[in-house]
Amino acid sequence: MIDKIAARLLLSRAKHPSLRGHARISLRVAKWMPFYEYDEEHLFASDGAALETVNRRREGFERLASRLAARKPKTLAASAELARGLSDVQFVDAYRVPYQYRRIVAARLPVGSVVEETDGPRLRDLDGNWSWDLGGSYGVNLFGHRFYERAMESGFARARKLGVVLGNYSPIVLENVNRLREISGKDEVSFHMSGTEAVMQAVRLARYHTGRTHLVRFCGAYHGWWDGVQAGIGNPIPPRHVYTLKEVDEDTLRVLETRSDVACVLVNSIQALHPNAAPPSDSTLVASDRSARYDRAAYTRWLHRLRDTCTRRGIVLIIDDVFMGFRLARGGTQEYFGVPADLVTYGKTLGGGLPVGVVCGRADLMKRYRDDRPGDVCFARGTFNSHPVVMGTMNEFLRYLDSPEAAESYAGLEERWNRRARELNGLLRERGLPVLVENLISVWTTLYTEPGRYNWMLQYYLRAEGLAPSWIGTGRFIFSHDLGDEDFGEIRDRFVRAAEAMRADGFLGADAALTNSSIKRRVLGELLSAATAGLSRNARARRPSGPAIRP
Ligand code: PMP
Repeated sequence: MIDKIAARLLLSRAKHPSLRGHARISLRVAKWMPFYEYDEEHLFASDGAALETVNRRREGFERLASRLAARKPKTLAASAELARGLSDVQFVDAYRVPYQYRRIVAARLPVGSVVEETDGPRLRDLDGNWSWDLGGSYGVNLFGHRFYERAMESGFARARKLGVVLGNYSPIVLENVNRLREISGKDEVSFHMSGTEAVMQAVRLARYHTGRTHLVRFCGAYHGWWDGVQAGIGNPIPPRHVYTLKEVDEDTLRVLETRSDVACVLVNSIQALHPNAAPPSDSTLVASDRSARYDRAAYTRWLHRLRDTCTRRGIVLIIDDVFMGFRLARGGTQEYFGVPADLVTYGKTLGGGLPVGVVCGRADLMKRYRDDRPGDVCFARGTFNSHPVVMGTMNEFLRYLDSPEAAESYAGLEERWNRRARELNGLLRERGLPVLVENLISVWTTLYTEPGRYNWMLQYYLRAEGLAPSWIGTGRFIFSHDLGDEDFGEIRDRFVRAAEAMRADGFLGADAALTNSSIKRRVLGELLSAATAGLSRNARARRPSGPAIRP
């Protein structure tokens, strides 16, 4: 009994104090959170700014709106039509900015989501506008759009004679398996159709071989959208058998040292940039306290200690390299941090432009049956799991990985991207702009150094300067490694111009009276008043009170 209580306390201590660390509570809070919004009159006064600033913002907003809309009538019409039938577009459009602003912002600053051509690092919309791609195709675009165009063409050509034969294997598969074994340092490989499925299989294998129930994932880390790894907001039913614990933290090691129900630990090394935080998105940019700081030495030490603990306790260490594999180094997280995993998952860029998921692992962990218990199997299938075309495009990727061009792109990788981040930060500082970037090689995030409620506006100023962030806005830019210094220089200068225009329009920069806490207190007050208004009418109406908000 005492032991049970002690174990429970230890577990509680290892949870991150934020809502993210408490899946069930965060789900409840998300369900409670009432909708309210700012009307036209208060849209630019949500921080209590003086009338002069509010007017400046209003004029700037109008200028920006006409600048953006005038450039792309066809793209916007096609995107609006698409949104009517494609739920993904509706969702993304709804979550570009904090929801209190979204209706008016979406109507006045619509973002076109239809593009029809790439030229190196640039995208062309239906109206012929070219913009610099900062979205990185969710991380797939590692070697540049031109590379994937070639890989897809050649992958299709190589599979043409085979058509869609599934169940038998094209001769390319053997080469892919052998190359992956060498890169991962593991004995065996399995193919899946997405990163999510690769993670599902890795976790299933860990449970099968350890006979234990629970997986440990770290607070804020993303591992795909399978129920079993998505705890908290976004998944209506909290998964059982998941512990969400603090990363880079002694309490977590204590839990792993003492519990006997942990089958595996999942690591996603992008979290080194912002341990325990969720992937940053502008829709949650309420104040300016988004933080990130990459400390390579500290994260390396952490991974080594985690590795030791897992080895001692017979816990399967899964490195989920779906995103960061091949981006950090040819051998991914294992090579870059010098930490071997028991199982590794890959995906995204490894498909050479087509969808894929891969698990590599030690033979004993990859085995799906037991010689001494023929009925005890670990099932894994997937109709398209070794599709000849995907095997062809993957082969192009794997061969390219060993080419002199790829070797060149890995040489001096970290220094190159750190220098670029320093260059941009230097210019921002010189101009006195309260913005900076933090990076883990080619994955960047934007931070805001002065309190403000309109930081999410930067994504629109970037667009006006011909830079195209993904739907999460300035939270994450993902660059491809073929980007030359000249192209980067262009992006850097446009970024600075965007921030300057935003400041000139009154959306960025100092208001001495504002602090991050005062902003959050204000928003909390609005939330409470919206909730109370909703309660006092009826559960459906959810009407807020107060002048600055509109139900
Ligand atoms: N794991 C990680 C670390 C990821 O970044 C992602 C995708 N963002 C996934 C798993 C899921 O991959 P997919 O979207 O291909 O299912």
